[in-house]
Amino acid sequence: MADLNYLQAQIDQLKAAGRYRPLTVWEGGSDRWMDWQGRRVLQMSSNNYLGLTQHPKLKAAAIAATEKYGVGAGSVRTIAGTLDIHDELERRLAEFKGVEATLVFQSGFTTNQGVLASILGPDDVVISDELNHASIIDGIRLTKTNKRIYGHKDMDQLEATLRESSQFRQRLIVTDGVFSMDGDIAPLPHIVELAERYDALVYVDDAHASGVLGKHGKGSTDHFGLHGRVHIQVGTLSKAIGAVGGYVASSHVLKDYLTHQARSFLFSTSLPPSVAATCLAAIDVLQTEPELTERLWTNANGFRAELQKLGFDTGVSETPIIPIIVGEPARAMDFSSRLLEEGVFAQGIVYPTVAMDKGRVRLIVTAQHTREDLDFALAALTKVGKEFGLI
Ligand SMILES: *Cc1c(COP(=O)(O)O)cnc(C)c1O
Repeated sequence: MADLNYLQAQIDQLKAAGRYRPLTVWEGGSDRWMDWQGRRVLQMSSNNYLGLTQHPKLKAAAIAATEKYGVGAGSVRTIAGTLDIHDELERRLAEFKGVEATLVFQSGFTTNQGVLASILGPDDVVISDELNHASIIDGIRLTKTNKRIYGHKDMDQLEATLRESSQFRQRLIVTDGVFSMDGDIAPLPHIVELAERYDALVYVDDAHASGVLGKHGKGSTDHFGLHGRVHIQVGTLSKAIGAVGGYVASSHVLKDYLTHQARSFLFSTSLPPSVAATCLAAIDVLQTEPELTERLWTNANGFRAELQKLGFDTGVSETPIIPIIVGEPARAMDFSSRLLEEGVFAQGIVYPTVAMDKGRVRLIVTAQHTREDLDFALAALTKVGKEFGLI
């Protein structure tokens, strides 16, 4: 009789390579300190940049919407699942982002998948940064389009690719706004300038920039003052916004098209009303509590400077995503485990997500972290960093 044991051999290979990772189960909600196996642990690896997962206004909005609408949307958007609160969320997001229209998906992942797979065809070419997120790579894989990869932020290579690709119907340059493993920012002004010179479209995935970069966290386009010059912006509602979901911010034409063509939009049930209400409340909070974003950046810049002063290699980080480069996969995972014993959770990230010799722990500083929290983290990192000979 057939069975699934053939998968075990691959699991064993992961174990042998030091890449096997059981899920860490937290006892309670996402917050600055969390319980794990009965111990308090400082959370330094969540995407909860502004602490919105626990914000009283967002919780109240979710509860009120559940009372009013029930727990689920009941259908896909194109049949009976577009409730007025979904429509309101898309209008508010468009206003917030300063674009004509937005379309909300179930996640950032399915947004990239749905948009990229439906707008590109065999006559087009997509030109993608080598470090773009997995959901961009998968979205491209679903199309019969032509593909060019340029070295990470290599603008000379991007220009060379643009120069030799004029035969295609459309050329689409795709980049992360903030790169998730290194915490560096895309050179968007340069990308836009090249796109305009060579008549190409620009697509930016702002998953880690939503709620983080730009005025009130409006994203990388706002951060660089490029309104009206980036054709497609993707955002997530799952990270700084504190809930779950994704959206594309662009034109009426794109929204109209995707509503008919994006398969991840068409064939999957719409967000629960509580989530739509949570996200609406989050947009209010971004605008009424700018001190959250300010504190995020003060914490991040201060913490990064302190790590560098201690002698850690924080790579090219320039955002609240701060890696500490450790080296070989097994060593990076051991470093992460030792930190956890000291009460700090910093996820190990290793090959193939990053290069074999660039295994790291990835720290994410949030607006919620207090001075005492950050000092606690620095003390643990100093102790474990010395053990590992990193500092
Ligand atoms: C996290 C992430 C996504 C996926 O967003 P979800 O809403 O969590 O599905 C997409 N793109 C990038 C760059 C990300 O970091």
